[in-house]
Amino acid sequence: MTSSQTLSAFDGRILPLLVCPRCRLPLALEDSKLTCEEGHRFALIEGIPILLLSEVPQTHVEGTRSLAVAEQGDGANLPQFDVAPGSIDPFVQRAIGATNGGLYQHLVGNMTEYPIPQLRLPVGDGKLFLEIGCNWGRWCIAAAKQGYRPVGIDPSLKAIRAARRVALQLGIDAHYVVADGRHLPFADGLFGQVFSYSVLQHIACEDVESTLREIHRVLASGGKSLVQMPNAYGLRCAYHQLRRGFREATGFEVRYWGPRQLMSAFSAMVGSTALSVDGYFSLNPQFSDRRFLPIKYQALVWTSEMLRRASEKFPVMANFADSLYLSSIRN
Ligand SMILES: [Zn+2]
Repeated sequence: MTSSQTLSAFDGRILPLLVCPRCRLPLALEDSKLTCEEGHRFALIEGIPILLLSEVPQTHVEGTRSLAVAEQGDGANLPQFDVAPGSIDPFVQRAIGATNGGLYQHLVGNMTEYPIPQLRLPVGDGKLFLEIGCNWGRWCIAAAKQGYRPVGIDPSLKAIRAARRVALQLGIDAHYVVADGRHLPFADGLFGQVFSYSVLQHIACEDVESTLREIHRVLASGGKSLVQMPNAYGLRCAYHQLRRGFREATGFEVRYWGPRQLMSAFSAMVGSTALSVDGYFSLNPQFSDRRFLPIKYQALVWTSEMLRRASEKFPVMANFADSLYLSSIRN
């Protein structure tokens, strides 16, 4: 198959994993749509399942846009990108500042290589890995390289289309689905590892709780989740809250949770949870990406990494870290 055929075909290997996000019955392929026995039907756009619930408010405007394309029923009007081998996907060129954080702004339009982060997890040994809010798929790519079988979801069809193009370009075997973390279209107990980075901070508290309950449902017994969240008491996070006058966040603005609040929500809804540091002073440059950053930011990332390593010996230091990881084992 040519690359454009590969990108428009539905990859049937994902079908046994999928359930209807509305009633959780299995899905079958029927007349180029995915349907359940209750008669709920979901469009495939360029072979990508659009498994969002149209009756619930979306957490991101791109979810609403994905549903509009699904409603039309075909992707004929979607912009097509011809990405030359070795070049950077135009979607990623534009999105890098948003997906990776402010310290990557200088890379917008100037990337020559995809920054693929280092996943802070052991080798995957073929475990099924779910990423919630994968955007163009940098963590799914990292997971595939580390021996996991990645499945990425995002409400944005644009981001999922880009994720598929980048995976094809890099020779990465990953599945991507347009879906909502609050209504996961996966059967119970499937995943060995769930991961989410810089995503749940953008949605309301009750939506985070729904997502955590869904993480618990799709994790296998003893399966693990690793979720990154900002810390309300982090130095930089405190400054941002001060700047907006400590008012309640709206729309896609960052919600700040305190470490205790995070621990109690994750422990109650996912399982036994430990807190560790991702980084200090910013959200959220990766130490493994430091060669992509200007010198002035490299110093910041080095200092952050030194403090992170110290926090492994002195856990109290997590209290003023800006970016935290919640590591849970399904109970
Ligand atoms: Zn259904």
